[in-house]
Amino acid sequence: MGFDRLGLSDPTLSAVADAGYSEPTPIQAQAIPQVLMGRDVLGIAQTGTGKTASFTLPMIDILSEGRARARMPRSLILEPTRELAAQVADSFVKYGKNHKLTMALLIGGVNFAEQEKALDRGADVLIATPGRLLDHFERGKLLLNGIDILVVDEADRMLDMGFIPDVEKICERITKKHQTLFFSATMPPVIQRLTKQFLDDPKKIEVARPATTASTIEQMLIEVGPRDKRKALRQMLREEEIKNGIIFCNRKRDVKEVYLSLESHGFSVGQLHGDMEQSDRMEVLRKFKENEIQLLCASDVAARGLDVPDVSHVFNFDVPGHADDYVHRIGRTGRAGRKGKAITITTKSKVDNKLLEAIERLTKSPLKRIENLEIKPEKRPSRQSEDIKADEKPAEHRPARRNERTQDRNRGRNQGRSYDRSNDRNNDRSRDKIKFAPDDMPKEPFVGLGPHVPAFLLKEVNLGKK
Ligand code: AMP
Repeated sequence: MGFDRLGLSDPTLSAVADAGYSEPTPIQAQAIPQVLMGRDVLGIAQTGTGKTASFTLPMIDILSEGRARARMPRSLILEPTRELAAQVADSFVKYGKNHKLTMALLIGGVNFAEQEKALDRGADVLIATPGRLLDHFERGKLLLNGIDILVVDEADRMLDMGFIPDVEKICERITKKHQTLFFSATMPPVIQRLTKQFLDDPKKIEVARPATTASTIEQMLIEVGPRDKRKALRQMLREEEIKNGIIFCNRKRDVKEVYLSLESHGFSVGQLHGDMEQSDRMEVLRKFKENEIQLLCASDVAARGLDVPDVSHVFNFDVPGHADDYVHRIGRTGRAGRKGKAITITTKSKVDNKLLEAIERLTKSPLKRIENLEIKPEKRPSRQSEDIKADEKPAEHRPARRNERTQDRNRGRNQGRSYDRSNDRNNDRSRDKIKFAPDDMPKEPFVGLGPHVPAFLLKEVNLGKK
């Protein structure tokens, strides 16, 4: 079935054709006619299924008639993260290019004044994260009684992030009768309650989870010793035909560390994790999307739901702690019918094996395991070989070198504040800094002599001897 059977207008169909889509995905085929009829929809679907277009396309047609008034948006889309909100905004630009709809984006980390201006101009489509939306609402800059369509996207993710009370507040404040489109990958009890409360006889559309439709994703499991994980990763990165890839780590600090290590080995790589400034996150995403960098080291929270089309590879540097995360991670590749490869690096440890069992139970397919991958010798990059050696040791087991320990203690003391040693111990760059060569002296101010030992103190002293 083609898009032309769904009831969309010609200008919208033309934008869809320009996007290069020939066939609607299952959620699009089922949801679009329902949304156009004005019915509430409950979509149980994950990212990667084409769900964004399943609501944006019909919304564009519905909203093409009528005009927005200042501060009274006509539709509202709630997204759990700023990145997802920005992505939905991109979709409206792409699919709405033959319409003249106005749009405002209210996300954290961005100037309030600019956002207020966009609201004042009147928005047909308002895309927001819940917290920022309530901020504007409570400052009286926004009225919610002009909303005709409300979309709650990634509701289970809102739950994970503690946003459900905000979502409820927002739903309660939209007093006008409106159409609600509600999407969630899973339906835990809290989400079910929410749908019962705020949806009116919805059409329930459930599409297969990417875990069960992953036929386009080739999955591999590589078993290595714990000290060889980075070498194995680099070997894979060199041997595979990679257009672009995301490397997932379980912890933020490992994201930073793997990123720095790959960078030092000459890979084109960026990092994405929750500790980064919003502007840096957007910038690295832009670079990745525009192929300025080939690889992205990411944590689950930062990367969940990101729509980066055409990712050829996903690497799990660690076996994810939750089977669901595995599904989300590998869902970054093999999207909308494209081919992709997901490579998971594992060790023989009991923990890894337990996690893998859970993943295989959920995906109902055993993972092909390559045992004891042979690590080939690699050419050393020009960087200090000592650092590279240290680099191979698993972060959590590597003892701090004596110098580091002293240095860390001094810094904590000298600066009169607690000092997070774990950061430095596991950070290539900080390790670089703490060699006591003049160029590598710490940049932070220190009290007293710091790490410098004056020569006279090193002179032998003959105590008691004449
Ligand atoms: P989503 O689930 O909305 O995050 O979409 C996943 C990816 O599929 C995005 O990169 C879309 O651009 C792409 N996509 C959406 N609809 C289609 C379609 N009908 N055919 C091919 N690709 C699509």
